[in-house]
Amino acid sequence: TAPDLLRNFCIIAHIDHGKSTLADRMLQLTGVVDERAARAQYLDRMDIERERGITIKSQAVRMPWAVTDAAGVSTPYALNMIDTPGHVDFTYEVSRSLAACEGAVLLVDAAQGIEAQTLANLYLAMENDLAIIPVLNKIDLPAAQPEKYAEEIGGLVGVDPEDVLRVSGKTGAGVLELLDKIVATVPAPVGDADAPARAMIFDSVYDTYRGVVTYVRVVDGQLNPRERIVMMSTRATHDLLEIGVTSPEPIPTKGLGVGEVGYLITGVKDVRQSKVGDTVTNNAKPADEALGGYSDPKPMVFSGLYPIDGSDYPILRDALDKLKLNDAALVYEPESSVALGFGFRVGYLGLLHLEIVRERLEREFDLDLISTAPNVIYEVTMEDKTILTVTNPSEFPGGKIGEVREPIVKATILAPSEFIGAIMELCQTRRGDLQGMDYLSADRVELRYVLPLAEIVFDFFDQLKSKTRGYASLDYDVIGEQAADLVKVDILLQGEQVDAFSAIVHREKAYAYGVSMTGKLKDLIPRQQFEVPIQAAIGARVIARETIRAIRKDVLAKCYGGDISRKRKLLEKQKEGKKRMKTIGRVDVPQEAFIAALSSE
Ligand code: GDP
Ligand code: MG
Repeated sequence: TAPDLLRNFCIIAHIDHGKSTLADRMLQLTGVVDERAARAQYLDRMDIERERGITIKSQAVRMPWAVTDAAGVSTPYALNMIDTPGHVDFTYEVSRSLAACEGAVLLVDAAQGIEAQTLANLYLAMENDLAIIPVLNKIDLPAAQPEKYAEEIGGLVGVDPEDVLRVSGKTGAGVLELLDKIVATVPAPVGDADAPARAMIFDSVYDTYRGVVTYVRVVDGQLNPRERIVMMSTRATHDLLEIGVTSPEPIPTKGLGVGEVGYLITGVKDVRQSKVGDTVTNNAKPADEALGGYSDPKPMVFSGLYPIDGSDYPILRDALDKLKLNDAALVYEPESSVALGFGFRVGYLGLLHLEIVRERLEREFDLDLISTAPNVIYEVTMEDKTILTVTNPSEFPGGKIGEVREPIVKATILAPSEFIGAIMELCQTRRGDLQGMDYLSADRVELRYVLPLAEIVFDFFDQLKSKTRGYASLDYDVIGEQAADLVKVDILLQGEQVDAFSAIVHREKAYAYGVSMTGKLKDLIPRQQFEVPIQAAIGARVIARETIRAIRKDVLAKCYGGDISRKRKLLEKQKEGKKRMKTIGRVDVPQEAFIAALSSE
């Protein structure tokens, strides 16, 4: 297709504002999927995505759309819709998907208004110079307030509130007009057809049958089947076995030219050979310069991951190897723990990434797993100026420390103004620094904070939701690092360190952590024949202490309350006779006690 008949766009929205539903409706109205075959949320292919209603991997679909002008002449356009992952953990992937487009539909729920991810995605779209089409969705809802929110969104984007389209992905109202508006508003792609080929990778997914499927946007030149291509960041070359477009199933084509969006298959088996953000060029006639913007995904959050049943360790290792084929951001290495046995230290992009990986491992590989409390990366400079990178509390040095640095984020929180006090209080306890506050409308505010990432990975979002009755939304971006007064707190059982519970915390919070952990373990560890001290310590200095008195007691007796299903699981495990004791010093502790202590957070 000639570039002037192409339109590449994406839909950006806060979670649940109806992006997938609208995308489905567009596929149906353009005839790409028929109503009968239309599976709810066609674009969200992974089960977890469908269940959680989130998009993890982006996909691109091509739709034909003819526009008839005033003279009755019909022009056939091809629209490429690129589905972006909507969550903060995947900001890098979002930004690459946006870079593949010329325009963005900014979708806002007409009953909710603008939310934190609406803003975050809008700013990314503006940085990429995209044409923005503001749209209010769910106008069929009785609670919709299109007038109010058209005002809000119009003010934000700089358009007349009258010009904000109103649609319903559910009923289809306004969607035909939106398709026409995309053709009219989104610029056609421009590129040099005679230059050496350059295409940007905005997604790559591993497919059991086809190997890695790489999604690209061609910027210059042309890619053809059976050519040899080069990945510019690594200089690795591959043969192009197949090239095509998705509409909605893969359709091989004779090539992709300027502005086109499609897929490549080279037979490679690992997505790390086909990295998001990298530039593909032709081996025989290579481009001199890669397209800008490539960076390696950088894990920000680490935690230990252990099979509850130690004999599952080889299955866990294989499962991680398999997941990695499809997740370039996942990193892991073996580690072992006295309390939990053999497992892995896993690095994630953020908390959602952690949850998704764990859930996929449990679901797709039928594993029962326990993860230790997540921590961030610390940079420790010793007094003799050596620098250590610490991703695990056990690596935290004991010697003379000069300075510890931790990553910080810029966070945006949107909420009804009645919750300002509660939000400020929460951010205060999380070492937050208020940068500014703006009213979006009379009753809604945007608060901007700089916060340590470590404070966010630890149940910040849950706390924020509960303090604002679910109304607040959060978005954050890692912006750098800062020096902080951080210490390692160890937990000792009869003088022996229990590795899984060591944590790096701010000095002012060390005492609270010590008290809560020793208290928890006191309730979970069965009484022994002798008295067992449980201590929390910074180095050699004890900061909190509990004592388990002699005499036996069942570990589960005190387990009730809280997460019943997890407790029930523990019971079942015991019934299976799998009660495994770990000996720490002279103390016998059922592994379940450690697991309960780690999971009751
Ligand atoms: P996404 O997270 O942005 O992809 O949102 P989804 O498309 O998954 O939609 C979130 C929820 O809103 C689902 O329960 C949808 O059924 C519902 N929804 C989406 N669009 C509309 C709409 O136009 N009207 C109504 N009433 N509900 C909608
Ligand atoms: Mg979705």
